[in-house]
Amino acid sequence: MERSVRVQALVLSHNDFGEADRYVKLLTPDRGKISALAKGVRKMNSRKAGHLEPFTIISAQLVQGKGSSWIISQVSTIESFPGLTDNLESTCHAAYVSELTDRFATEEYSNFELYKLAVETMRRLSRITDHFPVLRYFDFRLLDLAGFRPQLHSCVRCGNEIIEEQQFFSNILGGVVCPKCGMKESGIVSISSRSLKYFRYYQTHNFSQAAAAGWPADLRQESEIILTNYLTYFAEKKINSQIFLNCIR
Ligand SMILES: [Zn+2]
Repeated sequence: MERSVRVQALVLSHNDFGEADRYVKLLTPDRGKISALAKGVRKMNSRKAGHLEPFTIISAQLVQGKGSSWIISQVSTIESFPGLTDNLESTCHAAYVSELTDRFATEEYSNFELYKLAVETMRRLSRITDHFPVLRYFDFRLLDLAGFRPQLHSCVRCGNEIIEEQQFFSNILGGVVCPKCGMKESGIVSISSRSLKYFRYYQTHNFSQAAAAGWPADLRQESEIILTNYLTYFAEKKINSQIFLNCIR
């Protein structure tokens, strides 16, 4: 077991511990998710505190504490996104990304692509005004990385090609269901042809293409509900920041 290690990481979240300490959840490019203790970080004169706020990219020296837990001995900021914390809605969106990333990340198991996606999404949220396409693009890439890419071109039940009509979406089956199979299926929701078109486009294009396509205002609610429910189904627990986001609307 290593006694000390230097990591680069994205701060996902933190939790107060004891009187002055805090557990910080970190996502690293080469070691997956790490939970580390930041001692004395809630004291007024803490020099570490400012570097350990959520959505900050840091360089940290971790040392092995008692048992197998990590303790943060040194930390500095590599990149921060002040724009993500200066208003409630942006903070909510960054928290949504952070929480979903946390749910799908594995402890101390390398997943460079997930790290890259989370960091790129934070950067996009901080510089692009319209967050909706940024978040939906994140949803589709996360589903790909997690192995839950929804099937959007043929019916998940009978395999027939989905033509433009009133089709459905099934979380359990992981994709679209044709109207005929939909009559026999439970736990499905309808998805409009227009929303499905955007789902397919975002699933198969890169970010600049997706951002250029945008997402029509009248389809946003329907699309967001279907995607968030699908992600929630796999994340098992409800996505807290999404619930929070729905509250402030
Ligand atoms: Zn079918």
